[in-house]
Amino acid sequence: ERVVNQEADANELSFEQSLRPQNLKQYIGQDKVKENLSVFIEAARMREETLDHVLLYGPPGLGKTTLAVIIANEMGVNIRTTSGPAIERPGDLAAILSALEPGDVLFIDEIHRLPRTVEEVLYPAMEDFCLDIVIGKGPTARSVRIDLPPFTLVGATTRAGSLSAPLRDRFGVLSRLEYYTEAQLTDIVVRTAEIMETTMDPQAANEVARRSRGTPRIANRLLRRVRDFAQVRGDGTITLKLADYALELMQVDRLGLDHIDHKLLKNIIEKFRGGPVGLETIAATIGEEAHTIEDVYEPYLLQIGFLQRTPRGRMATALVYSHFGLEIPNE
Ligand code: ADP
Repeated sequence: ERVVNQEADANELSFEQSLRPQNLKQYIGQDKVKENLSVFIEAARMREETLDHVLLYGPPGLGKTTLAVIIANEMGVNIRTTSGPAIERPGDLAAILSALEPGDVLFIDEIHRLPRTVEEVLYPAMEDFCLDIVIGKGPTARSVRIDLPPFTLVGATTRAGSLSAPLRDRFGVLSRLEYYTEAQLTDIVVRTAEIMETTMDPQAANEVARRSRGTPRIANRLLRRVRDFAQVRGDGTITLKLADYALELMQVDRLGLDHIDHKLLKNIIEKFRGGPVGLETIAATIGEEAHTIEDVYEPYLLQIGFLQRTPRGRMATALVYSHFGLEIPNE
């Protein structure tokens, strides 16, 4: 199983929930997003209106769900949570929408995966807070309009690009989450250690942060595993030495890259002389799905400058060669 896999499994969800910051003050980093949201939230509250619909986008594990919960908390309303793939038919969405209380936040994760027929129900709901429902079939069919309570839709997606234009246009606030800096992740690790009542050396917190691919979810997950090692192999305190040892055993290297990243990068270097090589070809040679590579593995490798996207495919950069201690081939 991949330690730095970015999605949380069911097992992990309660751990994650226990760590969720509850308000904007506790939410570390993403300063621009926070600044904007706090203004919009305050303005909406002053006017006693619902907040405009918000679209949050960025790689998994950066805090989109957390932010949706915080928005509801800051507005003093309830949140209902669902996801694109969970809503299969227009009727499913109609049921969710008509059960909302005035002002509620409806959070739809992976909103780019909503079926098109469902998406069409969402347009009038977002724009005019109403549902257009067709009753009957054939010549006797007629359309009825049902009013909905005003609500705020918070949508989350890993790919803003795969959202349809009409849906994207109906969000008043579009916020892009960025990878976290090492300093911000260190703060997150320290906070999590406190919540878990674990003693941790500051250098150890920094080491875990450095290997977390800019992602709070991964930072918290690595920390939890490191804590297990500290309990079993040490006296419970997380020292730098112990963190190093545990992370080495988990095959997470100094930059947070794991065996799959290594396989991917070495493949491009060894089989394709550094590229360019097409995504599908990479996927086939390392036995992963192309879209998994594109959504999960590649964004961070692009971010740290290890991969380059060119019209002819992916290329490994000089940084990859030096990371592996290899000579850059001539030509
Ligand atoms: P996403 O919805 O983007 O996949 P989540 O909101 O589920 O990510 O966040 C994953 C984990 O990281 C959660 O446990 C959350 O507590 C933690 N986390 C995310 N962002 C922050 C932050 N800014 N400060 C502190 N913890 C965070």
